[in-house]
Amino acid sequence: MKKVVSIERKPSAHWVGDGFPVRTVFSFDTLGYRISPFLLLDYAGPAEFVPANDPRGVDEHPHRGFETVTVVYQGELEHRDSAGNHGKIGPGDVQWMTAASGVIHEEKHSREFTRLGGTLEMVQLWVNLPAEFKMGPPAYQTILDRQIPTVSLPDDAGTLRLIAGEFEGVKGPAQTFTPVNLWELRLKTYHRAELMLPPGFTTAVFVLRGEIALADSERAGEADLALLTREGERLHIEAREDATLLILNGAAIDEPVAAYGPFVMNSKLEITRAIEDYHSGRLGRLAA
Ligand code: MN
Repeated sequence: MKKVVSIERKPSAHWVGDGFPVRTVFSFDTLGYRISPFLLLDYAGPAEFVPANDPRGVDEHPHRGFETVTVVYQGELEHRDSAGNHGKIGPGDVQWMTAASGVIHEEKHSREFTRLGGTLEMVQLWVNLPAEFKMGPPAYQTILDRQIPTVSLPDDAGTLRLIAGEFEGVKGPAQTFTPVNLWELRLKTYHRAELMLPPGFTTAVFVLRGEIALADSERAGEADLALLTREGERLHIEAREDATLLILNGAAIDEPVAAYGPFVMNSKLEITRAIEDYHSGRLGRLAA
């Protein structure tokens, strides 16, 4: 049975651009190789935005060497990048962007959400790429709510949505470069889930709502992240109140990490090259 290694509490709050009041739940700086293949988790909101004319968000910026996965719970976002991709995602939708060799993109509130105002709530997870794919072509998957399968848990305990990976023979739609299970679990008060996970994989549980007890004792509440042992295949979770959780599970990438802002490579030299490539326009540009 999996045990709790640590619980990350009280994540640090800051703004990303003028549209995303985020709490950084973990980063490579805080959890390092223990959380591989994951690099960062930002939780934005829930936050209220009054109606406005100009979409708030983050202006154009680069990424290289990894993937950004954005899951929207409330509100609506629009994205466009130098590879010519454009997408709009709302509640329940996911955008899985593979930066790989590099993109320039902007991430904004959608025009309609900007005009009407309302509550914004989303998470952005960074997933590392193995060295062999870091300089591959950028890619982009818009995964709509209706494409994400939901499995009912035994004893009417709740539901599990599969964004990526496989659960009891059901597959999630996201294409990944290394084995990743990204599941959203909704558990009802005083109900339990027993999940079977691949042996040896990194496992963490992020609490969006409610309170849970993990591995029979450790408690985690809103915006907490529990890191579990890689050993053991069985994960017990009990809801102390109705809970919405993200289960992060994946094969660790056993390679050096050199992380600098929006670039995640394997060496300092590759970071220097990424910065040079960005400044000389080799990561492309956004259409005016
Ligand atoms: Mn970005």
